[in-house]
Amino acid sequence: MSATRRQFLVASAATSALAALGKPTKAFSAADGGIKWTKGVCRYCGVGCGVYKGVRDGKLVAIKGDKENHNKGFVCLKGFLLPQILYHEDRLTHPLIKKNGKLVKASWDEALDLVAKKFTESVKKNGKDSVAFYGSGQAYTEESYAANKLFKGGFGTNNVEGNPRLCMASAVGGYVTTFGKDEPMGTYDDIDHADVFFLIGSNTAEAHPILFQRIARRKEADPNVKIIVADPRMTPTGRIADIYLKFKPNTDLFVLNAFAKYFVDNDLVDKEFIKNHVAFGKGKAADQNWDAYVAFLAPYTMEKAAEVSECSIEDLEAAAKLFGCKKNRTMSMWTMGINQRLRGVWGNNLIHNLHLITGKIGIPGSTTFSLTGQPNACGGVRDQGGLCHILPYGRLVKKPEHRAEVEKVWGVPAGTISDKPGKHALAMFQALETKDIKCIYIMCTNPGQSLPNVNRYRKAMADPDTFVVVADIYPTRTTELADVVLPAAAWSEKEGVFGCTERRYQLEHQVVLPQGEARADFDILVDLAARCGYGKLLPWKSPDDAWEELLLLGKDTMYQIGGITRARLRKDHGVIWPCPTEDHPGTKLRYVKGEDPWVPKDYPHRIMFYAKPDNRAVVWFRPWENAAEMPDEEYPFFFTTGRVIEHWHTATMTGRCKELTHAKITSEVEIHPDDAKKLGVRTGDGVRVTSRRDSLIFPALVTDNSQPGLVFVHMHDAHLDRMCNRITIDQFDPGSKEPTFKICAVKLAKA
Ligand code: SF4
Repeated sequence: MSATRRQFLVASAATSALAALGKPTKAFSAADGGIKWTKGVCRYCGVGCGVYKGVRDGKLVAIKGDKENHNKGFVCLKGFLLPQILYHEDRLTHPLIKKNGKLVKASWDEALDLVAKKFTESVKKNGKDSVAFYGSGQAYTEESYAANKLFKGGFGTNNVEGNPRLCMASAVGGYVTTFGKDEPMGTYDDIDHADVFFLIGSNTAEAHPILFQRIARRKEADPNVKIIVADPRMTPTGRIADIYLKFKPNTDLFVLNAFAKYFVDNDLVDKEFIKNHVAFGKGKAADQNWDAYVAFLAPYTMEKAAEVSECSIEDLEAAAKLFGCKKNRTMSMWTMGINQRLRGVWGNNLIHNLHLITGKIGIPGSTTFSLTGQPNACGGVRDQGGLCHILPYGRLVKKPEHRAEVEKVWGVPAGTISDKPGKHALAMFQALETKDIKCIYIMCTNPGQSLPNVNRYRKAMADPDTFVVVADIYPTRTTELADVVLPAAAWSEKEGVFGCTERRYQLEHQVVLPQGEARADFDILVDLAARCGYGKLLPWKSPDDAWEELLLLGKDTMYQIGGITRARLRKDHGVIWPCPTEDHPGTKLRYVKGEDPWVPKDYPHRIMFYAKPDNRAVVWFRPWENAAEMPDEEYPFFFTTGRVIEHWHTATMTGRCKELTHAKITSEVEIHPDDAKKLGVRTGDGVRVTSRRDSLIFPALVTDNSQPGLVFVHMHDAHLDRMCNRITIDQFDPGSKEPTFKICAVKLAKA
């Protein structure tokens, strides 16, 4: 497909031409009578679009959007083509064990007995923390919970992590430090009320297409709606922008502080809101106050912001004015461009600051709203506590009372859960390198491609002295490194709960049988637990039983999920927590009196944040800093990575859909015409991209979407010669431990 044809595809898909409004594919509309439709959820991005799954003769044959769900019947191209992900000839259909360096067919008994033996022996010989679990924001909540319970309550290690550490950890850090609890306070409905959208570090059109479409429709319906897009690249998201801030990479934190200063200088702050709801720079800076904040902002002038970011002062001021104007309801959205940074948490804090000082929060259309990459990063990992430092529903490993609450529900002796946080994702794979961790169980994710500076971690996984188990539906860059591969049932071949970006929990029904001998991850973990001697810990017959336990754990917490029963999930098109009782409608405006059941009816103000001790959200003083690796004389270019609309993550699934692969799979290096001219490169020429980690050749795509000094490569290409994470750097945010995928330094040469 030519670039021009693809550009048309991107443009169409990003708006509506390729979205399906509640209709099955054309081929099946006539034969609808032969198809049984069952409600479900798209298994790709964190938008969590409701779908209907059409089954005929025991096979999933079609998808249509669910009109009664938030997506109002629309799905994007990837969602539309979901049936293909079940039936590619590459599906893993039986267990494999590595023998003499080769993966060979094995029985389930043979494979699981070997895994049980290796893990239990390692715990006995090397200690509890010699084993680890690395999961996924794509596994169902019950699956992640089963693993969390087996490792923390059974093996006794908090070495439980997941790939949401690679994408959402900084957003979690931002929400927790600013508001006192994780997860956004608003929902997608805010889009229908906003006057101004501030999209920063998010190519919404390609990464979250159905939300982008909703934003575009809002603007179409009301020409007064304004859209500000801030991104170092011009992406398809910019096509509907009124103001496009193409800032120099890594200058966004300066710009965000400059916006705050502009609000202060131009009387756009909400003094009453600040007086009632805001604290300043807690922690080490407990004595700070409004005056100190104003002093902190002093260097962040618009003039300086224009100089640093290389945006025009007119555009910066116009954007700040639109955002801050007292009559406008403003909705900020961001994703990996902010999160995957050395100061990802700070970036999140600074966005929240803008809403807090202007009081643009807790009003329909005025909110801060981080966009999630995976369908169940929120519900299955963040909420369920599937990371090394947390326990279910906002509890912390290091708090004795939180461990005790969980131990009680789990029926395990006091002291079973270790008080020591486990290793975060990168530390976990570094511990494989040093052999501190000897056995790792990887479920539904592909770290052999997705970790930054991936060569290093591929080597650790391939080491014959480490024992790596991978459960997945297709061969991946990780299964090829494994000692045991377990064939997992795919989405729609098993049942479980997804929780998407807007706190909406939805049930995915099983509609077809697994392929070959594949089994649901939930069943595999229950079986493994029994073989390891933890049968009583995971005694469940089905995911329903595990969900009952999760309701108990979440019931009296600020998550209040007690009303989201299985029966309700079977019936409803998603339920948004907090939802304390079965007759509660779910909460669209968290922290708002009369909406959020956690806020007492007699609370003296309209809004009550959860932050302790005074229910005030925190305006943090976060300075602008250099990235972990800045361009220099030797490596003079910024290197960044991201998504394209056709593919998803490491393309394990979309790379097996023929229409999507035809459209685009080969990574190109996007390079600005000025740089291309200097290098003597034209579109299609090979360009060698070299970082301090590795050197790869990509075909060039010369485009002024980029900017001088910046090159971009999409993250989906699994070809070993073009795997972008061989180049990226494995530094991480010191707070969230999220890697800084978005910025490193490279040099270029014509190849
Ligand atoms: S926007 Fe995301 S959730 Fe919705 S159909 Fe597309 S990939 Fe699926």
